[in-house]
Amino acid sequence: MSSAPDPVQSLMDITQRPDAVFVRGDGSWLTDHRGRRHLDFVQGWAVNTLGHCPPQIARALADQAAKLITPSPAFYNEPSLQLAGLLTRHSCFDRVFFCNSGGEANEGAIKLARKWGSLHKGGAYGIITFDDGFHGRTLATMSASGKPGWDKLFEPKVPGFAKAKLNDIASVEALIDSNTVAVMLEPVQGESGVVPSTLDFMRDLHALTRKHGLLLIFDEIQTGMGRSGDLFAYQHYGVEPDIMTLGKGIGGGVPLAALLAKEAVSCFAHGDQGGTFNGNPLMTAVGVAIMQTLLAPGFLDQVRDSGAYLSHRLSGLAAEFGMPGERGLGLLRALKLATPDGARIVEAARLLQPVGLLVNAPRPNLLRFMPALTVTKAEIDRMIELLREALRLVLAPARAA
Ligand SMILES: *Cc1c(COP(=O)(O)O)cnc(C)c1O
Repeated sequence: MSSAPDPVQSLMDITQRPDAVFVRGDGSWLTDHRGRRHLDFVQGWAVNTLGHCPPQIARALADQAAKLITPSPAFYNEPSLQLAGLLTRHSCFDRVFFCNSGGEANEGAIKLARKWGSLHKGGAYGIITFDDGFHGRTLATMSASGKPGWDKLFEPKVPGFAKAKLNDIASVEALIDSNTVAVMLEPVQGESGVVPSTLDFMRDLHALTRKHGLLLIFDEIQTGMGRSGDLFAYQHYGVEPDIMTLGKGIGGGVPLAALLAKEAVSCFAHGDQGGTFNGNPLMTAVGVAIMQTLLAPGFLDQVRDSGAYLSHRLSGLAAEFGMPGERGLGLLRALKLATPDGARIVEAARLLQPVGLLVNAPRPNLLRFMPALTVTKAEIDRMIELLREALRLVLAPARAA
């Protein structure tokens, strides 16, 4: 076996990476430098909406690269106008600001809420966020996150993010004071292990924010762009937020994110917000291709159908292995394990012969599945077979031998 090429040694060592260099992707399959294939149910962390290297993205990039890559963020360009129009026509929002990562979109949401507070709420800037929430890795979005262990990192934090408990409306109400301007949450907490808000909690939360004149901010970086089975998860909950952020799936694999707001909340003055690469036509042309694909008749029906099928197959596996069960929305799902063996199962699945399986364990007792929205039932069946093999290896080594 050859080892990974040398240049890897120059990268900052920020995470444990497997000893493989990935060189090619095709739909639900990812191939490494040894030619080893992996069935991919991580998909760049819920990013590759249409799987690896879909023709729509290859074409959008090639066509746009030959036309115009970056005029200036202070000039209009066609793909960003077209994508903003598609997003506002198909959502409850009126205005869009494009950026390059989810963290940057959430920074924008925080800035917009603070600006609105300075104009309309006497300078109030407090944003209530949630335990175990995840909003990004910038200083402000880390401060907004409730990820265990982050409270002590990179001190001092950005102030103004009191933490409530998801699905506990009293815990939100208890934190509201004269300095509160907004409540911000993921409709389904992704990184904390696919924990959905309940329909009742969302309805109560929406009512509470109306009662107190607070902005409701949805971080749909993981749940948006069809992953929930609706175009946006807020549609599933039947409540309209004032601000929403998108990332991950909107670029289908390229760096693109967006901040969306209702007209009354869209209060940035010239100079308040911007960025060198923001809304560049190369990336927004890809966003247009993704949106057009999601909006094609039957596409979201198929996501819901695949999500229901994945849920059904995971439930079966849970019953087979005596596990607590599965949960999720659409094609963002998690399997709850009976033991904290998540990391070992992920490793065993990756090393299966002749093909590996890529899944992710955001918590020790949980596996997360975020396949391409185009995943087929045959690929889901194959994933279940491979996962069963990995579970047998880790959970019952004696029986497997
Ligand atoms: C991934 C993610 C982010 C951060 O996005 P980046 O593109 O990594 O900056 C923020 N919020 C949620 C809910 C996410 O899943």
